[in-house]
Amino acid sequence: MPDIEDAGVCLDRQQQFRFGRGLSVTDFTASEWCQQQVAFNLSAKLPKEVTETEAMAAGKKQHAELEAETAVEVEVETESREDMWALRLLATITALRQLQSEGLTREVFCFGLLQGCWVRGIIDQIELDAESRAIVVEHKTRFNPSLPSHAQKRTAKLQVLLYCALFGSLAASARQHLPAMLQQLRLDGCAPLGAGVAAQAPILAASHYVRYLWQGDGSELGQEHVHLDGFAVQQALRRHLLFWSGNKPPEMVPITEDWKCRQCLFAAKCPTGQGLARRPS
Ligand code: SF4
Repeated sequence: MPDIEDAGVCLDRQQQFRFGRGLSVTDFTASEWCQQQVAFNLSAKLPKEVTETEAMAAGKKQHAELEAETAVEVEVETESREDMWALRLLATITALRQLQSEGLTREVFCFGLLQGCWVRGIIDQIELDAESRAIVVEHKTRFNPSLPSHAQKRTAKLQVLLYCALFGSLAASARQHLPAMLQQLRLDGCAPLGAGVAAQAPILAASHYVRYLWQGDGSELGQEHVHLDGFAVQQALRRHLLFWSGNKPPEMVPITEDWKCRQCLFAAKCPTGQGLARRPS
């Protein structure tokens, strides 16, 4: 065990409660980047203005433009949490119908039980290959016109693998898990929606990809292919769920990725960050 002053911060009981309520795919990608940074972030509760960079805002805008290419936004008033969740599920069914009729759909809400934890996420794009198998595509927008580092590619790969796991379980077990999910979310059951989702979902292809786009002119910088790897995703889930459930203190970044610490808001507080940020670049 490290000395307490060398340990950074751990998740408190309230933060671990997120685990019980369920996690998003972006929670996993954040902890893949640096678990210690996630713990600092949750403790500090910094406002969006501090944590959202210019590049993040530009990325959101570009994602909205991509979504507008395939969907028409309709405003629907919701009066309850049931309304909100029913709308999400209806949007998923509509997206899957669009996938079947047009071969491509974007912004697909998915959910599922992975290693006992409810996980949800929104898949950027799903397209069908020549044999009607579903290919998951993640769009990553880049401030600079270059492909990212290995660490960033690894995080994007995990994101795609988790989406594949969710999409796979949506197809196989929406009927079986939907009542438990509704109970967990304290919602009134709406089983026909689950049956519809299960009936609409096609099977997954073996290869998926991350598409890197330049924020400058929207051009494609390159693609990184991600092959389905059930073992890798189960291992990553195990590692991150130990952290998110509070059963293991956060891991800090390895020395080979010390550049993350140089751009980290918490470097001054973090024992690893202090050491690594002082190293000459
Ligand atoms: S300084 Fe480095 S190890 Fe510490 S939280 Fe930031 S990125 Fe993680």
